[in-house]
Amino acid sequence: MTNHNTQKPCAIPFTQSGSSPPASPTLQTLAIHAGQGPDPATGSILTPIHQTATFAQPELGETTSPDGHTYSRCSNPTVSALEANLAGLEGVPHALAFKTGLAAITNLLFTVLQAGDHVIAGEVSYGGTVRLLRDLFVRFGVSCTFLDVTDASAVAGAIQANTRLLFVETPANPTLAVCDLSALGNIARENGVLFAVDNTFLTSVIQPVFCHGAHVAILSTTKYVEGHDSTTGGALLTDHPELFDRLQLTRSATGSIQAPFDAWLTLRGLKTLPLRLKQHSDSARFLAEQLLEDSRVKAVHYPTLPSDPGHRVARRQQNAGGGILSFELDSKAVRPFLSALKLTTLAENLGAVETLITHPATMTHAQLSVAERSRLGIAPGLLRLSVGLEDPADILADLQTALEASHILEVQA
Ligand SMILES: *Cc1c(COP(=O)(O)O)cnc(C)c1O
Repeated sequence: MTNHNTQKPCAIPFTQSGSSPPASPTLQTLAIHAGQGPDPATGSILTPIHQTATFAQPELGETTSPDGHTYSRCSNPTVSALEANLAGLEGVPHALAFKTGLAAITNLLFTVLQAGDHVIAGEVSYGGTVRLLRDLFVRFGVSCTFLDVTDASAVAGAIQANTRLLFVETPANPTLAVCDLSALGNIARENGVLFAVDNTFLTSVIQPVFCHGAHVAILSTTKYVEGHDSTTGGALLTDHPELFDRLQLTRSATGSIQAPFDAWLTLRGLKTLPLRLKQHSDSARFLAEQLLEDSRVKAVHYPTLPSDPGHRVARRQQNAGGGILSFELDSKAVRPFLSALKLTTLAENLGAVETLITHPATMTHAQLSVAERSRLGIAPGLLRLSVGLEDPADILADLQTALEASHILEVQA
């Protein structure tokens, strides 16, 4: 990877207030309009769902639309509208949409890696990413070092002559540990390594990544981007035309493009992404502060809390805390606490309008050994909360009632 000095300034506000009109549209406006306008054929205010496998060609070598659509495994107008919207929000020229987040990650790995290459990835990465690198790509001669990416000097020390890719996510799931994107971006640039950031937890609305030297951003659109628990999807974003061309070829070759209807639902979800993330963040911060005060809660992890070890870095690279927090109870309290919840649902997903809670030790991170979990800080009493858009006072009441119930049971036991 060659050097890139096209980094953009990182300060992106949620909204601009005041009487003077903004110099360029803010994210809130872009989310609604970028890459979309009324349908030129019918005036339909929403992008139509082009539910078709193929497109008629008027002559040999010609296409009906100037965008050159021929077959929906390669491109489709509804999917292209979603891609234009995602790219507009991120402020980069290129986006590609996939059927799932893991399909997007698989395409990235297939595109940039070959036998003999080495990858460095965060040790607290999404389980599916770890499985891909550790169990599948190893069979094709790709090696991977998993390490604590919050320690930038450890990352620099792990670079080998054949290191091709640095892959991180921040905040990490479920510890919410924050890694320093600009320090890692510098290490990647100095060593000619491709830098990929899985930005699913915050998206560019809260955490722009290209200004820190990322070459590729990854989104599982299943989470906040679509935001309503109605689709699975993924996206890759890049500011590199040549990398984009190769990613697009891989997508056509592997057949992993997003479906038109799911693209349409995602496009609809995107229109409210900045507003939703603002509320998710405000509610999560409120709940994190309340839980921190509660003597029945042993620890609270939320990146922008002053008590959090990552808060200085988080404040530099995030403009809000995001909608996910984790907290630790006495391990004996977990089961009674979870069964006493009424509004909050026990489930594996995150990033949607409903508040969901997960017990990482037995759910998302059950495949790790006890020793491994304890080394990574995934205690048996740790719970991850994806704070939804219900009234935060109602969510708090639900948590407090369940804490009370679990505490009474604990005292009795
Ligand atoms: C969910 C998730 C993925 C995988 O996305 P799918 O859409 O489930 O395939 C990747 N990275 C992170 C951080 C995730 O939360």
